[in-house]
Formats: sequence, C-alpha cells, structure tokens
Amino acid sequence: MRFDMNDVIYQNYIFAGKIAAEAREFGVSLLKPEAKFLDIAEKIESKIIDRGAGLAFPVNISINEIAAHFSPRHDEKELCLKKGDVVKLDIGAHFEGFIADTAITVEIGSNKYDDMIKASSEALDNAISLLKSKTRLFEIGKCVEDTINSYGFKPINNLTGHSMQRYVLHAGKTIPNVGDKVYKNKIKVDDVLAIEPFATNGAGQVITGNGSNIYLCKNTFNPRIIRDNKAKNMFNKTRNTFKTLPFAERWFQKQFSNSDILLKKLSFLGMIKHYPQLVDANKGIVTQKEHTVIITEEGCEVIT
Ligand code: MN
Ligand code: MN
Repeated sequence: MRFDMNDVIYQNYIFAGKIAAEAREFGVSLLKPEAKFLDIAEKIESKIIDRGAGLAFPVNISINEIAAHFSPRHDEKELCLKKGDVVKLDIGAHFEGFIADTAITVEIGSNKYDDMIKASSEALDNAISLLKSKTRLFEIGKCVEDTINSYGFKPINNLTGHSMQRYVLHAGKTIPNVGDKVYKNKIKVDDVLAIEPFATNGAGQVITGNGSNIYLCKNTFNPRIIRDNKAKNMFNKTRNTFKTLPFAERWFQKQFSNSDILLKKLSFLGMIKHYPQLVDANKGIVTQKEHTVIITEEGCEVIT
C-alpha cells in the first residue's frame, strides 16, 4: 500500500490536484502583455468551478517584488500585465474540502529572469526527490536553499510550504526554504504538503505591504461575544459562505452590498483577517514554484 489514506479521500485529492494543474496551465496561457488581472483571475476561477471543484483560495497574481498575496479587487478593471513583469500565478482548488495548491512563475514577453525561474523550479524538483516518510523538515529546507544558492540567488527565509487538512490551507506544519536546524521534525506517511520554494535577487526576506484583497474568517472567533446583532449576522453569513478558506473581496462583493464598509467593520471587530501583500524587503524580483504532494513510505505522489 502506498499509504493508509482512505481511498475516497485519496481520490478527492487526485481530482482537486488534476483540476488545479489544469487551471494553472490554462492560467499560463492567459499571461500576456496587456492581459487584465481581473480577467485572468475570473477566467481561472470559472474554469475550476466549471470542472466541478471548489475554490480553495482566490487566484493570486503577484508580480515582481511581490512574492505572494495579491488578487485584484472587483473594480480594478484597468490593472494589467506589462512586458517584463515576473508573475507568480498561485492557484487552489478543492474537492469536498481536500485542497490542492500550486503555483508557477512566468516572465511576460522577455526572458531576463530565466535563471531565477529555473532556480525555484529546480529547488522544488530536488526537494520533491527527498520527500518520504521520516524526512526531516530542515533537510528539505537545506535542499531548497542549496539549489537556489547554486544559481546565485537567495531563498526567501520567512516564506514556507505548509501542511493541509480538510478545509484548512495552513494546517500547522511548515516546510522551510532554508536549512535551519530548528526545523527538526519529520514528515510522515499521509501528510499532504504544499512545497513552495521562492528565489530572489533581493533581501531573501519578505515584509508586509499593502492589502491583498484576500480575507479569512477567523475560526477562533466566537460571534456570541458580539452584542451588535447586525455584525453577528454578517459574520455568520460570511463564515457560512466561505467557511474556513480564504476569500476574495470580489467574491464578498458579489454576495453582499456595501462590501467595503462591511469588510472594514468585520476586520475592525476582529472577525476576519485581511492578508497583506508579501514583498521582498529590498524590492528584489521573486520567483516561486509550488506543488502539492502526498507523502508515502517510499516517496511522495505529486498531485498537481
Ligand atoms: Mn500556493
Ligand atoms: Mn501554498
């Protein structure tokens, strides 16, 4: 047996992975000069839904020094890609809550950063070749770090891969992109992991930037402590709609009127979190590649 995972769960992961991979490749075909962020995000999200999966998080389109966490607002109709942009397209699909998370980097209309794109891609391949039951987390990180360094770039030391569980995108385990020995724990059979090396010619560390237009209902929040009934109802509706997965301002705006005010209010009351953009501290260019894998006794299965 490859692993102990129940076959229904396994098939759900395989389905989510297949659709996420298809959506990623479809997304790549849309990445062209003058392509609008909003069109790209909406077309990819429609593709995932049309294929029968759910959206595990909003399509992220992060360019240049932005490593991760940007999705266009519903009214950002003019924002478009330009020649030379280095685009990280990060996509998540789920089936019955079983999530596949995958990302790719594309440079628009030029090839100045081929080496950096190769560095993050090869770091991912090398890391995947190490994965099996009992691999220690720092070994994975060291492999990523060494590969990226060999190209003359730095890994981003404060962005990591992560374990996933049903309806939970970041389920506790972090997969480092550096070989720090503090990450001494071992991975195990049936772990579902997103592995995502980031390479940069900048600081190798991200700081928070402007808002991403991506939100999450805080699962630790207990709406009963709120006296304001309107706010309480709003929170319950939001949580019922988006559950424990990140959601886009665009999706919220389709469901609720006065969306800007409501999102501000829910944030202010501590009911939802607004993710910031993650930007290299020296504004270096950043590349990323990501796959989701299921860990087995002998190795792993890449599902995306
Ligand atoms: Mn991702
Ligand atoms: Mn991820």
